[in-house]
Amino acid sequence: MPGIFTSRPVANDSSSEACFKMAQYWLKTCLETHYSLCQVQGSLSLPTRVLDVGLLESPFVNLYISNGRHGQWLTLSHCWGETQPATTTKANLNNHSTKIIISTLPQTFRDAILITRKLGYQFLWIDSLCIVQDSLIDWQEESVKMNTIYSNAVLNISADAAADSFQGIFFSSNRKIDGRTPLLPPPRPDLIQIPVHSPKTGLKSTLFANGWWLHYNGFLDNDHLQERGWVLAEAVLSRRRLRYTSSGLAWSCAQVPSLCEETRPHLIHDLVEQEAYIHSVYQIPYESLPPRYVHEPETGGRRWEIIDWWYGRVSEYINRKLTFQHDKFPAFSGIAKTYSNRTGYRYKAGILVEDFRRGLLWQTCGRPVDIEVAPSWSWAVVGHGGITFPRIYEWIYAHQTYVADPNEVELIDICVTNLHDDPFGQVISGSLILQGLCHGLHELLKTTEFYFSFGWVSHEDCRDRNYRPLSGGYTLSQGALKLYMDTKDESNSTLWRREDIHILRIGMFSSEPMSGSIEYRQPPVEATSFLLLQEIPGLEASYRRIGIARILGPNVEGPDWKMKTVTIL
Ligand SMILES: [Zn+2]
Repeated sequence: MPGIFTSRPVANDSSSEACFKMAQYWLKTCLETHYSLCQVQGSLSLPTRVLDVGLLESPFVNLYISNGRHGQWLTLSHCWGETQPATTTKANLNNHSTKIIISTLPQTFRDAILITRKLGYQFLWIDSLCIVQDSLIDWQEESVKMNTIYSNAVLNISADAAADSFQGIFFSSNRKIDGRTPLLPPPRPDLIQIPVHSPKTGLKSTLFANGWWLHYNGFLDNDHLQERGWVLAEAVLSRRRLRYTSSGLAWSCAQVPSLCEETRPHLIHDLVEQEAYIHSVYQIPYESLPPRYVHEPETGGRRWEIIDWWYGRVSEYINRKLTFQHDKFPAFSGIAKTYSNRTGYRYKAGILVEDFRRGLLWQTCGRPVDIEVAPSWSWAVVGHGGITFPRIYEWIYAHQTYVADPNEVELIDICVTNLHDDPFGQVISGSLILQGLCHGLHELLKTTEFYFSFGWVSHEDCRDRNYRPLSGGYTLSQGALKLYMDTKDESNSTLWRREDIHILRIGMFSSEPMSGSIEYRQPPVEATSFLLLQEIPGLEASYRRIGIARILGPNVEGPDWKMKTVTIL
């Protein structure tokens, strides 16, 4: 049967020898056969401190001060949870350097030590033990190295299913995690067991059929760890990941675009696609992306994917949870720095300067914004759970592109002050100076049909206006203005009475007629996008962003559109 039926059941306990063997097999395959993307080049300095896990049976580990020595190490991604896990502090640093008794460590750490030993490695990096937690200086020095700690590690062990450091990494069907019944107690409900028998050879076996896509979409990303903001950078920057999820073991690496799971371990061979879509930051070449990149169907397919990858990660990140909102930029900095290094695009408070027109057109689903965290023009002002770049996706998937347009907005200056002068770190202040066509919203709405993306504007208020609430499945009529407010604010309902709101034209985007079979061919569509800006009282020509807007149709015209230079804070 091997070679024909490759699916296998999920183990009851992922600390079993069979599971370690599978992890060893995945790692060996990746180390020996995945050359270009998965491998770290050259000999590498260890992180400042790493856990020396010692011998398999030893009851002790210790914190090893590397002093720049070279070596290989694993990393751990885990949820801290409500209670602080075991930490290294100024007071216990010396003791930890000598000896840590494993039985005093939380279960997740103990499991990670066992995995490191079983895979034959000596060093393991765990944030709470390898950074001195009560030293601000140490935290600052070490956090800027996080990029290389994850990207140069041999493997990232990901404790997906555990809500905190005490629950342990290994999923066992015999226990309940977080009060939940394990999602897939064996035999898995989506794993159909079919007894098979060959009368010719007399061979008897069991065929396991599984709902692989259901499994992938339904479970893996629901685990605790995948909700955490900091973990996205750890996942993106790690070249190889061994994930202990609530539905079994999974493998991913820079060269395997989809998850290779316990039920089908041999997918590690089938899934390797060097030229597949860009799924890993390591597939982005060190090659300057042209500024204001415009889609070129003949040569630019991969470049579109590079742009797409960025906006995909931002959207994914903003939907994750952070304990402290001031971590909004620091927790994303590893991804931003790596992307910026590879593409040559400059990064300012979440925006790629060379792609600023698209980058400014993020859209929220009405979550509160916090201008203490970021300037109003940055997506980072939005709280957990809700931005998209719908325009980006339209442009990409409908092959839309910029239209050469003399009236598009120009960037005059972008000035961001960061804490500790780290351009990827926490933002203290930021101003964006743009020059473009402006119009008072109040005046514009007198003559233009318009729609709100949110339904909280009362119909009473809108009577006798050109306003219509939007509902699902609408079609935006040609020439009508659609307003997407950033927050669900009461004051939105009186927007058209107010004279302090302005609309700034960003640019026109157009789809090319699609080639290919008739069913996919579409007529070209043109749309113009805008920022909605509110005057800041007492500051001349200074504004705060409150939303975006869009007109389906060609360029806006008329003498009331004035070229202005505006500062957005
Ligand atoms: Zn690999």
